[in-house]
Amino acid sequence: PPPPASTMEDCCVKVAVHIRPLIGDEKLQACKDCVAVVPGKPQVQLGTHSFTFDHVYGSTGTPSSSMFEECVAPLVDGLFQGYNATVLAYGQTGSGKTYTMGSGCKDASQTGLIPQAMNALFNKIESLKDQIEFQLHVSFIEILKEEVRDLLDPNSSNKSETPNGQPGKVNIPGKPPIQIRENSNGVITLAGSTECSVQTLKEMADCLEHGSLSRATGSTNMNNQSSRSHAIFTITVEQIRKTNSGDNNLNESMSDEYLCAKLHLVDLAGSERAKRTGSDGMRFKEGVHINKGLLALGNVISALGDEKKRKEGAHVPYRDSKLTRLLQDSLGGNSRTVMIACVSPADINAEETLNTLKYANRAR
Ligand code: ADP
Ligand code: MG
Repeated sequence: PPPPASTMEDCCVKVAVHIRPLIGDEKLQACKDCVAVVPGKPQVQLGTHSFTFDHVYGSTGTPSSSMFEECVAPLVDGLFQGYNATVLAYGQTGSGKTYTMGSGCKDASQTGLIPQAMNALFNKIESLKDQIEFQLHVSFIEILKEEVRDLLDPNSSNKSETPNGQPGKVNIPGKPPIQIRENSNGVITLAGSTECSVQTLKEMADCLEHGSLSRATGSTNMNNQSSRSHAIFTITVEQIRKTNSGDNNLNESMSDEYLCAKLHLVDLAGSERAKRTGSDGMRFKEGVHINKGLLALGNVISALGDEKKRKEGAHVPYRDSKLTRLLQDSLGGNSRTVMIACVSPADINAEETLNTLKYANRAR
């Protein structure tokens, strides 16, 4: 197993803010830009409020193009030493989470963090493949209303919605629900979800695209592609060191011959507070569930970030939601976490932007 995270200088949670530009709708409504970046500092100002993060991208801050190198590339590298990692995109619907992650069906472009992570992973594998044999798996699930749904299930391509807003075929008759399990080593697994074995970058990209297409969508007042669910794309990297005769690695212990680590790339549900947006209160209930995951995540991350509490061995409330339970072995402990707080610069979104900055600030 890798050395304890306490020996790494950057053990805990890093937080970056990504400010997107004003977009079509906001320009049409003649919105003003209300989010300012302090020049040369990772500091954001909104009205009288000021927050400092690890990084700030967009607006007049650092260009977003350096986000991958600064925030995610170290996590991809860490996989090769056996460190699990999690990248979380947080923010209100329309703030740019899916764009930032590159997990949308349209813009699963090269610029999103997931496509760039996949690229970096395969480049590194290419450079090591003489010494190490790799096995790669991906899974892609979403958590909606505290239920786990498989986005790579080959038997479920129905993503239509019934008129009352209930997603179609969520439960396939005869298919047991996906369960989150923990083994005796503290490793979290998903029982019943599709694990795709992939050999090439193309195969991995196809999984991302396929899953993105089957992600549940529903309409709210905010956005008709509104994401009420957390979408989690997970890459598992297994490494087996090739043992050639004549190899002078005799001092290496057995534990160095096999490593397994995973990277979770999470497009979180919209963080806007539950409002009665639908006709029948149905969405309201979903909102409450979504908040449960985001609330639990906030509590877990702030517990991890509190060094004093951590040393006292304080309780980290992973079990309070499916989201935190699933991410348990990849948040804190021996793992690396980056949260990207996505915000709109428009004055009409100022209240939600402030909420996002406060949530992100708590994570530091
Ligand atoms: P979310 O997933 O948080 O609901 P999206 O990623 O769907 O938000 O972004 C909302 C809209 O803003 C989309 O039309 C998207 O293309 C656009 N957008 C988001 N981030 C950026 C950005 N950094 N630059 C340009 N357009 C962006
Ligand atoms: Mg989205």
